[in-house]
Amino acid sequence: MLIIQDMIVDEEILTVEFACDLAKCRGRCCVIGNVGPPLTRAETRVLDQIVNLVRPQLSPESQRQIEHMGPWRSNGYEYYGAILPGDGPCVFAVETGGIWMCALQNIHLDHRPVKPLSCRTFPLWIYRSGAMYHVRLHLYGPCHLCIGCGTSLLDSLKSDIVACLGDKRYRALAAQSGRLRKRG
Ligand code: SF4
Ligand code: SF4
Repeated sequence: MLIIQDMIVDEEILTVEFACDLAKCRGRCCVIGNVGPPLTRAETRVLDQIVNLVRPQLSPESQRQIEHMGPWRSNGYEYYGAILPGDGPCVFAVETGGIWMCALQNIHLDHRPVKPLSCRTFPLWIYRSGAMYHVRLHLYGPCHLCIGCGTSLLDSLKSDIVACLGDKRYRALAAQSGRLRKRG
């Protein structure tokens, strides 16, 4: 791990070539796991606002789950997107021809994307602990199929990393990435 400004960063993030390619990974990150995507409190309010808009696109099971329990969960201090029972898919995941896509993908509210920021930056996990940001790489099995694509991870996720960390921190990551990649 490297410390860059106020960030603790997995070094691989700065060197790996990676861009999500649903044709290869089949969007499995929306299906894997026993908890939904981490949300901010503000994002739960956004989901409440738009859930009726996307509900007709969702599977009958997801629609029932949302009807029954809403689109997100909380343990009192953390918030997560809802998943189907039995560690099933995220309620917003829609399957077509074996590929899982996000029903929130192209929806905006007040000119801002509705898709949670933690989903937009995945497979990066970015969170704050004390004074430091942690920028971790968490590749699921299918993500490995998208490595070595010729585009750096920092480039492919640029706008969402900037949305999460700000432009100054992004530029610090990119500068360190350039140095490491030049060194080989
Ligand atoms: S909100 Fe969308 S991107 Fe995030 S886990 Fe659910 S379906 Fe996937
Ligand atoms: S995070 Fe991984 S599984 Fe999800 S879309 Fe990207 S490459 Fe595919």
